[in-house]
Amino acid sequence: KLFNEVQELKGNIRVYCRVRPFLPGQDGKTTIIDYIGENGEILITNPFKQGKDVCRMFKFNKVFNTHASQAEVFSDIQPLIRSVLDGFNVCIFAYGQTGSGKTYTMSGPGTSKEDWGVNYRALNDLFDISLSRRNAFSYEVGVQMVEIYNEQVRDLLSNDIAQKRLGIWSTSQPNGLVVPDASLHPVKSTLDVLQLMEIGQTNRAVGSTALNERSSRSHSILTVHVRGVDLKNGSTSRGCLHLIDLAGSERVERSEAIGDRLKEAQYINKSLSALGDVIFSLAQKNAHVPYRNSKLTQVLQSSLGGQAKTLMFVQINPDTGSYSETISTLKFAERVS
Ligand code: ADP
Ligand code: MG
Repeated sequence: KLFNEVQELKGNIRVYCRVRPFLPGQDGKTTIIDYIGENGEILITNPFKQGKDVCRMFKFNKVFNTHASQAEVFSDIQPLIRSVLDGFNVCIFAYGQTGSGKTYTMSGPGTSKEDWGVNYRALNDLFDISLSRRNAFSYEVGVQMVEIYNEQVRDLLSNDIAQKRLGIWSTSQPNGLVVPDASLHPVKSTLDVLQLMEIGQTNRAVGSTALNERSSRSHSILTVHVRGVDLKNGSTSRGCLHLIDLAGSERVERSEAIGDRLKEAQYINKSLSALGDVIFSLAQKNAHVPYRNSKLTQVLQSSLGGQAKTLMFVQINPDTGSYSETISTLKFAERVS
């Protein structure tokens, strides 16, 4: 049944838009979100224009309004997550400018159960399902966590975090470890995962002044490997789930950024457009998919395309000040959907 649900999804690439609510202290009177439809339509108003052409319509697989809860968002993607137990590879991305809710969606604002974002809920669900199937299947779950910063891949769960830079050249074992050197940690419960993620977050801050700044300028990838054994006939399946909190997509003015900041911005720009190009050519069913243009797409290569499923959360802000970033985010998403 799960298999069918997944097969029924139109194509292998889906795009969901999620609108962040106004934050406390923000003036919520003027918004650029004009209308959100039932079928994935979203209408954006240009606050700087009047008359004709002030509105622009975009259409995605789904749009979550500001009041959508973490549980609601998760229940929509649950079949996708569960397909990992049946041997599918799945990538879930959060794309958007800094402050648009990427981390809120992927990890959540806190570690209480209600706050949980996609990653904890996904792991929790995988454990629940594997428990309920324990008479027929035995599952092993392991996680990896890496960060890509300035086109360098770091293992966030390794002990020698400071030195550890990973090569990703010996990739292509089918469904295998895409980052061969990154440590793989067996997990048996959601608590194990919460503890590992805490270590990963701490390691992420190494060498950077503020975690928030660093996290908005690097991609973080949590990979969940699942190996299932059918207890009746001994056959095995392997599936893998990548949960990716991307670097902020905001454009940086050339004149404003200098030195390290400019370098960071250029790396981010390059890798996000490489990701866009890969998903675009997959959607177009092009023969050539340009995986090689960034570390991000190289790391994810075996889980992008083929039978693999991709879901992109496009995160946007509701305020007028974010108008031009919002439009450029939505254009990016429109191209890949
Ligand atoms: P990003 O990771 O894209 O930089 P964050 O996830 O850190 O953005 O979100 C920025 C702020 O907005 C945080 O304070 C977060 O708690 C809040 N926020 C984001 N999305 C939501 C939401 N759907 N509901 C309530 N608050 C949200
Ligand atoms: Mg973030």
